[in-house]
Amino acid sequence: MKYHSTRGQAPVLDFADVVLTGLARDGGLYVPESYPQFSVEQWRQLRGKPYQVVAYEVMKPFVGDAIQPDALKTLIDEAYAGFHHKAIAPIKQLDTNHFLLELFHGPTLAFKDYALQFLGKLFDHLLQERGERVTILGATSGDTGSAAIEACRDKDTIDIFILHPHNRTSEIQRKQMTTVLSTNVHNIALNAPFDDCQTIVKELFNDLDFRDKYKLSAVNSINWARIMAQVVYYVYAALNLGAPERTLSFAVPTGNFGNVFAAYVAKRMGLPISKLAIGTNKNDILARFFDSGKMSTDAVSPSIAPSMDIQISSNFERLLFHTYGNDADHVMKTMAEFKKTGIFSVSPDVLTELRKTFAGRRFDDDSIAQIIQKIYHATGELIDPHTAIACAPDLLQELPNDAVHVSLACAHPAKFPDAIKGAVDVFPHLPDFLSDLFEREEQFTVLDNDRATVKAFVEETLGAR
Ligand SMILES: *Cc1c(COP(=O)(O)O)cnc(C)c1O
Repeated sequence: MKYHSTRGQAPVLDFADVVLTGLARDGGLYVPESYPQFSVEQWRQLRGKPYQVVAYEVMKPFVGDAIQPDALKTLIDEAYAGFHHKAIAPIKQLDTNHFLLELFHGPTLAFKDYALQFLGKLFDHLLQERGERVTILGATSGDTGSAAIEACRDKDTIDIFILHPHNRTSEIQRKQMTTVLSTNVHNIALNAPFDDCQTIVKELFNDLDFRDKYKLSAVNSINWARIMAQVVYYVYAALNLGAPERTLSFAVPTGNFGNVFAAYVAKRMGLPISKLAIGTNKNDILARFFDSGKMSTDAVSPSIAPSMDIQISSNFERLLFHTYGNDADHVMKTMAEFKKTGIFSVSPDVLTELRKTFAGRRFDDDSIAQIIQKIYHATGELIDPHTAIACAPDLLQELPNDAVHVSLACAHPAKFPDAIKGAVDVFPHLPDFLSDLFEREEQFTVLDNDRATVKAFVEETLGAR
């Protein structure tokens, strides 16, 4: 399989290079030249198969010749071996036609594990083959950092440096990162807010000598392999709920548009998905877009669903590209305009076309708390604030009645105990395997808010090995 950049100016690459490159050189995102088509018979044959088997069949056409079949199978088996539920992505029924797809059974209790556990193994495999090493550098306000650290720990080919804002993450989030004591994991607590962490990371990526010398790399959600790995749970859930004979629709709590884009890919592959409802918190750029056809950035304000506190949904560019018939020139112009003015629009016709598949709704903190209450009283289930958005009655109303309704449970409630306690006065407990998290030893380095200081720390750490 060959991959093209959404902006058309970067080299066409195969799967292995796309994974290791991440963001295309022209600033675009890589997409496959075509989406593999599964027939009704092929879907049927996958029904009832273990998650790992579904994963292999879904990923194989995207991977192409880049990885030998046995090696790919092993990577998949290893990636999901550390999950804490036999079904990997189990489904719970909440109402007659309302199901919850639980995506929090990985090591860090959020859906990002489903892609990152695989990506960590994949990086390691490809780098070992090439005899190369990389340095992964990232900033986190909480969730992504822990999932990336868990994915990269103990890998000989990778060093990972994650900056978090000192004393400004929740204690659970910090502990999930800092209690990983592997020698290749380097936690930096920066004396600064999250935005400054991100700025320093960006500046270091733009320091080309430094970037090349240490082979800086990122595992953020623009990496194609993350999307690919996420397609798997849509297929698995759909088959378990009666596809291809029954049609499904999904309600997805959305920030960067990575998760819901994976659902769109599953639809493009022939899975019967009628509608995708996108829920946002008060950072509602996407809800406003699907309402008006106008994408316009706004300041980020902190919400009780913090993993969706974003200003720009970077993966939306992939949908834009396909919506305009893979017109890279159009995407290039649109994104240039967006960068300059913070605004771009699509025509009424295009909006109508997009609305056939997508709908968007926004939920403020109060309504999120009310949904947590409502679901708890109706079913006894504790759901986290992101999952609550996916379970909002107003969002489910966007889904057609003749389809099976599935909400994505993107995080375990115990990751956000304060929001749950505030809503229903119940304290959600961590699963057994993390019950001693607060007693575990932590390791991190506090650094001043200064790029040169962070750079020197990376150089010293890597020089010492
Ligand atoms: C990352 C995250 C999201 C947003 O997913 P995107 O792929 O960025 O749209 C939603 N909920 C939780 C719990 C997350 O960690």
